[in-house]
Amino acid sequence: MKPFEFIRPESAEAALQAIGADNAKFLGGGTNLIDLMKLEVERPDTLVDVHRLPMNGFSEMGGGGLRVGAEVTNTALANHERIRKDYRVLSEALLSGATAQLRNRATTGGNFLQRTRCYYFMDTTRPCSKRDPGSGCAALEGPSRIHAILGASEHCIATHPSDMAVAMAALDAKVETRKASGETRSIAATDLHRLPGNTPQYDTVLEEGELIETVALPAPLGGTHLYRKVRDRSSYAFALVSTALVLKLNGGRIDTIRLALGGVAHKPWRAEKAETLLSGKEPTEENFKAAAEAELADAKAEGSQAFKVELAKRTIMAALREAADQETAA
Ligand SMILES: Cc1cc2nc3c(=O)[nH]c(=O)nc-3n(C[C@H](O)[C@H](O)[C@H](O)COP(=O)(O)OP(=O)(O)OC[C@H]3O[C@@H](n4cnc5c(N)ncnc54)[C@H](O)[C@@H]3O)c2cc1C
Ligand code: SF4
Repeated sequence: MKPFEFIRPESAEAALQAIGADNAKFLGGGTNLIDLMKLEVERPDTLVDVHRLPMNGFSEMGGGGLRVGAEVTNTALANHERIRKDYRVLSEALLSGATAQLRNRATTGGNFLQRTRCYYFMDTTRPCSKRDPGSGCAALEGPSRIHAILGASEHCIATHPSDMAVAMAALDAKVETRKASGETRSIAATDLHRLPGNTPQYDTVLEEGELIETVALPAPLGGTHLYRKVRDRSSYAFALVSTALVLKLNGGRIDTIRLALGGVAHKPWRAEKAETLLSGKEPTEENFKAAAEAELADAKAEGSQAFKVELAKRTIMAALREAADQETAA
């Protein structure tokens, strides 16, 4: 690993000043960044540790929402009373990720910004335009079963790996940031990550050195919350396909639906086509199938990836079926 300077500021202002140094990176739990530094995929000159910043708590928001500090660990977030009661899909998504030891260390901000698990990205002997802009994409020629089937480009077919971010997208969470200039902004979780296009080196819309300070969860939606994750092993594995779903029935029809997919795109994929098709409809198998078909209509998958299109459709339908059954029984 390349030598680096380590800075541990006590305030956001000091952290933002320190991050202005050439080639500096924030350090959250380090469970992704340090691994990538050992592989020399990431080579920062300076690490700005954000643990001493006042970003480690929860606060109630007006209207029933909840604000979460960026340094709250994945364990604390998953187990918080309000999250378990009102945002259960988020708790389930977090608990499906990594291991207890990693979740004890990993932070909310770092989880959003963890990098792709594309094996070619992590292998510095292979061409990768995300790691080395313009060098090509080894995934286009090799096995690519963990790669994207929606929204990919000819320059990159990587997927975003976070389970938490998929639930945050379904819940319409907002990521609240601060730039070195002091300017703050609130970014919808669905808009934080971007599609690769011609510039796959950019994972998100954040500017260099922009600090995630908090995440705002809007007022609870009620209904049934469900996170379904399909993976090669039942634990300690990333999603091949996942669904974050909130469903509420009223008078035998779908009153509220929020659906997002993981493991299929460069970003958490909000399933807007399926949501639109299902709103106000009866929760029938026929309607679930039509919604899943519509959402995957533009999917592109070849060779080792081809199975993911059918897998995504079946995962969507199974989640909808299970949630509708729970709603009907309630
Ligand atoms: C073996 C293994 C299995 C895993 N399995 C899963 C899984 O199944 N599902 C899943 O979702 N994840 C999984 N993970 C990933 C894990 O969840 C992430 O490594 C973790 O969430 C990253 O958080 P962190 O705080 O450690 O981030 P770090 O490694 O510290 O940082 C990650 C990135 O975020 C940036 N950053 C950190 N905090 C901030 C901030 N406040 N503002 C701006 N930038 C910031 C850093 O500069 C860095 O670029 C796994 C990891 C491992 C090692
Ligand atoms: S899919 Fe993206 S991350 Fe993976 S090798 Fe291609 S350019 Fe790199």
